[in-house]
Amino acid sequence: MYKLHPDYLNRSYKKISDLQSKRVIVRSCLNITLNENLKPSSLFRLKESVKLLNEISKNCRSIVILAHLGRPEPGSTDSQFSFKNILSELNSLVPDNKIELHDSVESILHGFAHQNGGNIYLLENIRLFPGEESADSSERKKFAKELAQLGDVFINDSFADYRKSASNYDIAREMISYIGPSFLNEIEGLSKLSNAAKPFTAVLGGAKLSEKIELISSIASIADTVLIGGAMAYTFLKASGIEVGKSLVEESKIEDAKRIFQKYRQKIILPLDHKYLLNFSQFEEPIESRDSSLNYNQIGIDIGPQTIKKFEQVIADSKTVLWNGPMGIFEWPNAKEGTQKIVNAINNNKDCYSVVGGGDTTAASENISQEFSFLSTGGGAMLEFLSKNEFDILDVILNKALD
Ligand code: AMP
Repeated sequence: MYKLHPDYLNRSYKKISDLQSKRVIVRSCLNITLNENLKPSSLFRLKESVKLLNEISKNCRSIVILAHLGRPEPGSTDSQFSFKNILSELNSLVPDNKIELHDSVESILHGFAHQNGGNIYLLENIRLFPGEESADSSERKKFAKELAQLGDVFINDSFADYRKSASNYDIAREMISYIGPSFLNEIEGLSKLSNAAKPFTAVLGGAKLSEKIELISSIASIADTVLIGGAMAYTFLKASGIEVGKSLVEESKIEDAKRIFQKYRQKIILPLDHKYLLNFSQFEEPIESRDSSLNYNQIGIDIGPQTIKKFEQVIADSKTVLWNGPMGIFEWPNAKEGTQKIVNAINNNKDCYSVVGGGDTTAASENISQEFSFLSTGGGAMLEFLSKNEFDILDVILNKALD
């Protein structure tokens, strides 16, 4: 688990001196899933992000928001990656301001010079700029310097975007930097897990095993039980010699899954049964398998009733529960039951400290009325924070001396 610098609160955004005179650059988390009409499927991350904007916008000269949406190639003109899709929702959450969308650094600098509009500027999807995620660190640095012209201080309020990029890491080396309220909230909520009451259960699901595999191993080392559902369970099942039919498997991760499963065999519980389809349609009636294996033509889409029962029992006996990743294709009406039951099981255990995180997990739980002790905006970031000793985007702020 990440070891927090003892005086991290000195880097709280509340410590910014003489805010009135400052232009502030904020790295926000606006990366949300859009539905088929390109409208936000959940406002959770937007609501978290605007807290800072609403708090400081009246007291500073200007705010420039840096953020990304989805995974575009740099320079892409595909409309699904534009902040135009979420601008009206975002503006409806900042009642006293109008956020202006600009497609270049120059355009914002021009806005400063001419003082047109309100004082909150949003730069178009930062991942459309080649410097943002360039593998060449000098390219990233060059872009960070360009971005740094947009303000006097930098506040990182985007915990979820934890991988080093120009707008969350390199820029913090260029200027005095602080931690925003949403990020601080994450640090505080997650740090409580360092003294997690036992039994401590981790519930892990979703599809992207490749992004989570090393972290699963670290989480397994601190949790008492690890319940695995979602598509990633099929890679684990296949790794342990069980047939999974046409279910989603990450073949390149089978050896890793085998290694983790062998090491933590006593702690890991894989699905005992499934709901499966033959045609992979959300309108098809799912069929329940009798055990953990599936035939060659069957596609697992959700955990089955025996698994739900087992997972419910383990959760009911836990004092701490960490949950990341849906148990099935929760976006489909025929594959959301497992996820829904996990939400209910966590809610029904009133004595446990529950931490839930991840874009899809929060979207899945937002549609179901629920209460958790702590809802994290990060999925991979949450697992990274809980399982590693470094957290680059925070270390870069904490380790840089205040000028
Ligand atoms: P992740 O971003 O890794 O948390 O994965 C979330 C995605 O996993 C969601 O979009 C789910 O639809 C998907 N998912 C969960 N279970 C399955 C499954 N059995 N087959 C295919 N996709 C799944």
